[in-house]
Amino acid sequence: MTQQTSALRPKPWIEAIAPYVPGRSTTDSGAKAAKLSSNENPLGTAPEVKAAYVAAAETLDRYPDAGATALREAIAAHYGLDAARVIHGTGSDEVLHLAAGAFAGQGDEVLFVRYGFSVYPIAARRVGAEPIEAPDVGYATDVDTLLAAVTEKTRVVYIANPNNPTGTYLPRSELLRLHAGLPADCLFVVDQAYAEYLSPEDDDGAFELAQSADNVLVTRTFSKIFGLAAERIGWGYGPANVIQAMHKIRAPFNVTTAGQQAAIASLHAKDFVETSRLHNEKWLGWMADEIGKLGNAGLRAVPSKANFLLVLFEGRVTAEEAYGALMEKGFIVRWLPGQGLRHGLRMSVGTEEQTQGLIRALREIVGAAD
Ligand SMILES: *Cc1c(COP(=O)(O)O)cnc(C)c1O
Repeated sequence: MTQQTSALRPKPWIEAIAPYVPGRSTTDSGAKAAKLSSNENPLGTAPEVKAAYVAAAETLDRYPDAGATALREAIAAHYGLDAARVIHGTGSDEVLHLAAGAFAGQGDEVLFVRYGFSVYPIAARRVGAEPIEAPDVGYATDVDTLLAAVTEKTRVVYIANPNNPTGTYLPRSELLRLHAGLPADCLFVVDQAYAEYLSPEDDDGAFELAQSADNVLVTRTFSKIFGLAAERIGWGYGPANVIQAMHKIRAPFNVTTAGQQAAIASLHAKDFVETSRLHNEKWLGWMADEIGKLGNAGLRAVPSKANFLLVLFEGRVTAEEAYGALMEKGFIVRWLPGQGLRHGLRMSVGTEEQTQGLIRALREIVGAAD
């Protein structure tokens, strides 16, 4: 086929985007495998949430509620927030994009940490802003290096807490110190996609900050612990003027009726969410301990508070080799060379059986004696 020559040219900042790479769901051979590459809930979705989703079939002919009023009110009641300051999105991905869309553009900088969530540079470039990466310290977000990277052009600062793909966590005192060091004309976005996995005593204080400060946006998702990744529902909480600006540029009917109903039901599925959190706490800890025993094979886990573990391969077996070998054994994990993590694999916590199988497979691959 001959290459078509076209007079159409995407904008240079769009051409500069390195596309998002989703977690794989099939193996090279097409064999059935445990998908541990996208940090989904291994326990699935609560039955009452599925029922709410199915019931929404009755109104398939109608547009969804554009304002997602019932959903925003349910969120506000659940988290003790003001519904007027909640914005809903097609996944929190959309909310993250809206933040850059409303507050950054050409000539501006959007700041985040190295090994941060891969959507941030895309959100920056999409609006013509320059993505700026601050150095990490030991794979974690460091307040001083982030603050040192702020310039008069910085308009948006994103941090994920806990962070993906590292799982690292910035405690409340550090988060407050970061906010205190940012200029007032810079929007501070705290992406809490994994916050429900934290133990109750680990509150980073971002909601409180968003209640009182003029420049803080917190984002959350129904994709992770609530088990609704397929429906694409996320939300943000911030000052009224920030939320209003973002509403202007969101798609009018951005969350489906079934999604809104399912999300509301999931907020009531307290037992399911708590069971999911405790399952994760147990198996994340177990995985980290088991990786710790493979230290002499050069494996090391970055301390994680999320529902996955970033495992570094610093010995004889490389991350790339282990990735391929795990795939052959029926475990799909995430290798992230595009994010500067050629030497790391991100592994989601699976079911008990999957998690034990994953570690067994890893031990075989690195040749650990039983
Ligand atoms: C998974 C994830 C999200 C959530 O994305 P959705 O669009 O809500 O599915 C947001 N931020 C981070 C850091 C994530 O890992």
